[in-house]
Amino acid sequence: MVNLKQLAKLPFKAFGSKSSKTFKPEVFDSHVMTTYGRFPLALTHGAGCRVWDDQDNEYLDFVAGIATCTLGHAHPVMVEAVTQQIQTLHHVSNLYYIPEQGALAQWLTEHSCTDRVFFCNSGAEANEAAIKLARKYGHTELGIEEPVIITAHASFHGRTLATVTATGQPKYQKNFAPLVPGFHYVTYNDIEALEGAIASLNANGPQVAAILLEALQGEGGVNPGNIQYFKRVRELCDQHKILLILDEVQVGVGRTGKLWGYENLDIEPDVITVAKGLGGGIPIGAMLCKSSCDVFQPGDHASTYGGNPFVCGVALAVCQTLESEHLMANASARGQQLRQGLLKLVDTYPHLFEQVRGWGLINGLVLKAEAPLKSLDIVKAATAQGLLLVPAGPNVIRFVPPLIVNPSEVNEALEKLTTAIKNIT
Ligand SMILES: *Cc1c(COP(=O)(O)O)cnc(C)c1O
Repeated sequence: MVNLKQLAKLPFKAFGSKSSKTFKPEVFDSHVMTTYGRFPLALTHGAGCRVWDDQDNEYLDFVAGIATCTLGHAHPVMVEAVTQQIQTLHHVSNLYYIPEQGALAQWLTEHSCTDRVFFCNSGAEANEAAIKLARKYGHTELGIEEPVIITAHASFHGRTLATVTATGQPKYQKNFAPLVPGFHYVTYNDIEALEGAIASLNANGPQVAAILLEALQGEGGVNPGNIQYFKRVRELCDQHKILLILDEVQVGVGRTGKLWGYENLDIEPDVITVAKGLGGGIPIGAMLCKSSCDVFQPGDHASTYGGNPFVCGVALAVCQTLESEHLMANASARGQQLRQGLLKLVDTYPHLFEQVRGWGLINGLVLKAEAPLKSLDIVKAATAQGLLLVPAGPNVIRFVPPLIVNPSEVNEALEKLTTAIKNIT
């Protein structure tokens, strides 16, 4: 058995070759579908919290594959776990027991309020699984013929047809009608809106099977959940036997300074969906649930790749390193350091910035609606200074670095951002 603790102490090494300077964006664009608005940047290798482009420019990576590279790039633990697992066994069917899957499920349930896990490959698929679970629960446990799932405006749950329907943002749904029936939207953090929706939907007998919410709305603008709101949501769910599903795809697995986003809200959900940070960058998603709502039986749901030995072996190494290296404590401390620095920017540029919000290492610097700049302008200016950032909507600049980020890297990011803002104002 490899010693993860020893591995975690090794220095980072960039394995990628030096830039070849042969990358051609025109060739890329003529072969790859243009579903993304891309920055004119071709990243070729990385180590720790840094990545390099094909021109050998260095960047401090405060995007981390959008809150995904928990251990940064080329982390010795991941290099070892990937190498070891590919040499041992990388894929077999779920027709057989997969020991690595069992070990990861045990780790996840022992470290959360849940009892059972279903593995898939992405956040959208984790939410699809939760949506199917909620519908079956509605049918078999509540006797609802057409179960409704309540979600929030400004939410983000994925791009498949059901999850883009669950996503309460019309811009993602435009041109994809007809959407999936059975969803109803309410304003996030507004308890009266939710009470009203349940009362009207359930007026002639139960209709609502589940409420699906993010613990903190990531894509929708780094907007944290309110404790009083979520406590009342939990009460309403208990009262009406409604499942509370928390989409923790972006905030789960240590990012908020706690292992789970719900720990910031003083409640326990019935179902949790995770992906992004769980595998540190290898594709894995999971739906975790309490045994009381595990209504799935053989044949109800499946995924060919879901929970294969490769992804589960690597994800378990990521999770164990999170714990052994105290990365949640680091996320709390570095997050506080970052927010303090960002608050100084709010003080310095009151005409530009409104506030800083977030938990642990998911933070947003919020622009004033009337500011002459949009988040993308600042992100582009930061990129030019060698700092990668990502917008969360037009008015929020999002900071989601690897959880291994150190104090000097946080200071460096703040310095680069300050220079970037000076340059464009
Ligand atoms: C990214 C994200 C998803 C979708 O995950 P994919 O892996 O891209 O399918 C779902 N929910 C939230 C909260 C996310 O941040």
